[in-house]
Amino acid sequence: MPELPEVETMARDLAPLVEGATIADAWWDWEPVIRHPHPAAFARQVRGRRIERVGRRAKWLVLDLDDDAVLAIQVKMTGQLFVLPAGTVHDAHVHLRLTLDGGPVAGHGRTEGPRWLLFRDVRKFGRVGIYGRAADGTILGEGDEGQLFGAHGPEPLADDFTLRRFRERLRKRRGRLKTTLLDQSFIAGVGNIYADESLWRARLHPLRSADSLNPDQERRLYRAVRGVMNEAIERRGSSVDDYTAPEGGGQMQEHLDVYQRTGAPCRRCGRPIRRLELNARGTHFCSWCQRLPAVDRSATNVALVRSARRSARRGRSWSELGGPEPGS
Ligand SMILES: [Zn+2]
Repeated sequence: MPELPEVETMARDLAPLVEGATIADAWWDWEPVIRHPHPAAFARQVRGRRIERVGRRAKWLVLDLDDDAVLAIQVKMTGQLFVLPAGTVHDAHVHLRLTLDGGPVAGHGRTEGPRWLLFRDVRKFGRVGIYGRAADGTILGEGDEGQLFGAHGPEPLADDFTLRRFRERLRKRRGRLKTTLLDQSFIAGVGNIYADESLWRARLHPLRSADSLNPDQERRLYRAVRGVMNEAIERRGSSVDDYTAPEGGGQMQEHLDVYQRTGAPCRRCGRPIRRLELNARGTHFCSWCQRLPAVDRSATNVALVRSARRSARRGRSWSELGGPEPGS
């Protein structure tokens, strides 16, 4: 599933292709892909609008339109975006098409005729929506109520996301380190791959209690998260599963230290990388480099049950808010 570096790469590829373009029309073949407002209103609201800027928040693409509107695209597991000349033959996994005026297309080409911005999504978990932007820049939720990203934590690469801020947030957490990193309300954009990579770099066990770190360990984790994210963006993300950006895939998958390297030698100590299941997802680590303190070892079973219950509760409250689902 695309995480912060993959969605950032998609945004950076998309920006030169669509910034300045005007949307002429919208087509879809599967209504649920349009999350807000209802499809007919969505089509009315995008028609004639100009795409001013392409950015990212958490694991969403955020396209600023004129008139303080925002086109938000949640790519989820298999969402892909392509910009091609209108009329290009595509497969049945394209569920939304926006017709744009002439301009650049993928692969450094250009067309004077209309273009298509295609949203292709094999697993069909991705969603798009039009939202409003408040005077202070905040993206509003459905029907201009609340905030679209109100349940999301800070961006780990933002300038104001300092070690001090990270520390303050971490010390309030009672869960396991891996579970905490994956919690989008703690920090936004970290998923399974980069949580495992960050913890290996910081030499911290995924099951360690988040509030048990000493200042040096907190600093290591802060630097590891930001370092891994920056490196992954430089390498255009990890091409695993269906991920590809508008101008092609990434190379980070060839530079991962633990993710999906179960049994392979640890690049630090040579011992085999281990895998355990945490919240029904694979967690990869080196049990030699990432030691679990005795106090956490004895509480492991209890905590695993507790964290499962917590995420079930969170799932309910998130859907009641009408905000993004957990892990999104
Ligand atoms: Zn090791």
